[in-house]
Amino acid sequence: MTIPFNKPYLTGKETEYITQAYAHLSGDGVFTKRCHLWLETQTQAHKVLLTHSCTAALEMAALLLDIQQGDEVIMPAYTFVSTANAFVLRGAVPVFIDIRPDTLNMDENQIIAAITPKTKAIVPVHYAGVACEMDAILAIAKTYNLAVIEDAAQGFLSKYKGRALGSLGDLGAYSFHETKNIIAGEAGALLVNNPKFAANAEVIREKGTNRSQFFRGEVDKYTWQQVGSSFLPNDLTAAFLYAQLEQSSLITTQRMSIWQRYHRKFFPLEEAGYLKRPVIPEECEHNAHIYYLVLKDAQARHELLAYLKQRGIQAAFHYIPLHTSPAGMRYGRVSGELDNTERLAECMLRLPLWVGLTREMQSEVVQAIETFFE
Ligand SMILES: *Cc1c(COP(=O)(O)O)cnc(C)c1O
Repeated sequence: MTIPFNKPYLTGKETEYITQAYAHLSGDGVFTKRCHLWLETQTQAHKVLLTHSCTAALEMAALLLDIQQGDEVIMPAYTFVSTANAFVLRGAVPVFIDIRPDTLNMDENQIIAAITPKTKAIVPVHYAGVACEMDAILAIAKTYNLAVIEDAAQGFLSKYKGRALGSLGDLGAYSFHETKNIIAGEAGALLVNNPKFAANAEVIREKGTNRSQFFRGEVDKYTWQQVGSSFLPNDLTAAFLYAQLEQSSLITTQRMSIWQRYHRKFFPLEEAGYLKRPVIPEECEHNAHIYYLVLKDAQARHELLAYLKQRGIQAAFHYIPLHTSPAGMRYGRVSGELDNTERLAECMLRLPLWVGLTREMQSEVVQAIETFFE
């Protein structure tokens, strides 16, 4: 038997909704509007716009901030490429800082040292759906007059001090990619929290035109207003997503129970000093996106990964730190030492976690890891 690392969960309603969407296939149809309303209610964001990916939402954010050649954007090196790419596309320099060893999130204490007169924004990434220290980050942004763009790709339905991730910065980005908790294949959303970006966000998403206003009957023709692109998904994608949104709390509950069980089971191994479990700070309510273990060193991670593979268990490491990648070296720069990033990226291992992972399968994963350390 093979235990896959991830398996997309279907609610059963997706095809029905997609069939209903046939009447209007392109973007901003009935289901897109339903998703917008659902997401705005859920997150309390000023405005939510579906996009065809989180990458697209981040690219919209860079356009909205009017990022120019040579501007700097502070972000963790431990993240997905899109966090940096979105800004590099506009000619900006990603400035990579270290992560905290407890949450693997951007170390808020490294931000101020990375700020220069060229800095335009801070991009916190909520790793594993566990919030960055947002109070500190927002306070620094305010003092230095910087924008905050949350890469909340993994943070849908997570909270920080009771508030939805993605709704705390000026702008936030969600992903509904197949590998995330709530999915629609390739899809995402931009959360516009600072109202000053709302009107422009609509224009940028619709090829730089005021087409959204035209459809609402606010103007009698639509024209090219400014630079933009096509960032909206078709309504079939939105129909699929809506089925998922309706069941999203059930999905989260089921993922959480798997997450909690791993967490209980690995307590003894942590006590014995073999590994570290994820840390969830008091003010964070997470969404059980990832369960990971931090091993003693790269060698231990390599051996455990191979051992699990032999037993048909697919575990996975995660990001190759961006400052060590060819494009990261070409386009970005580093601020401070990135010791935690380099060590933790080498030592961490993600375990299978998906709705439908049975108790038996999970026990097999746990037992294999226990046996490995015996
Ligand atoms: C998944 C992910 C993205 C990209 O999401 P897409 O919807 O695939 O574009 C960006 N940032 C982080 C942190 C992610 O985990």
